Amino acid sequence: MIPSRKGEFSEELAIQNGYSSEQAVFLGRLYSDYQDFRFRMGRKFAFRPPKTIIIGPPEPFAELLALHEVSHAICGHKDFRADVERLKMEVQAWEKARELSVRYDVDYNEELVQRELDTYRDWLHQKSRCPICGLTRFQTPDGKYHCPSCEAFNAAQKTR
Ligand SMILES: [Zn+2]
Ligand SMILES: [Zn+2]
Repeated sequence: MIPSRKGEFSEELAIQNGYSSEQAVFLGRLYSDYQDFRFRMGRKFAFRPPKTIIIGPPEPFAELLALHEVSHAICGHKDFRADVERLKMEVQAWEKARELSVRYDVDYNEELVQRELDTYRDWLHQKSRCPICGLTRFQTPDGKYHCPSCEAFNAAQKTR
């Protein structure tokens, strides 16, 4: 049993949150292997840059999801304002999780990974759609979206 840093993850806390003792031991192993990272229990699996791993409630792929969030931290991911970067980071974190899944003997479920990536693809697609004309917009490095059609129209209106 690994002693808990205050307010952070512990095996007992994982068990209190419904994890089996086997899963709690796995999470405890991650926690002790990556002592530079912070682990917290939360409502869903997530990564908070630069180094906080949120462990969500138990679910069938909890181990793999935990490896994925740890992978974001290992890859040094930060908040990228450009959403295309975000999708790249997701792909990269899953690649890393694949390596880790071998080391930790966790099943790498390709279907889950594709499903997770699809939610980002859909999100990206939705975000990039112009709410006025429905055309696909482009994003500048400041994170703002621009619609080529509407901006050309607005520019034409202004010069009139
Ligand atoms: Zn992710
Ligand atoms: Zn538009």
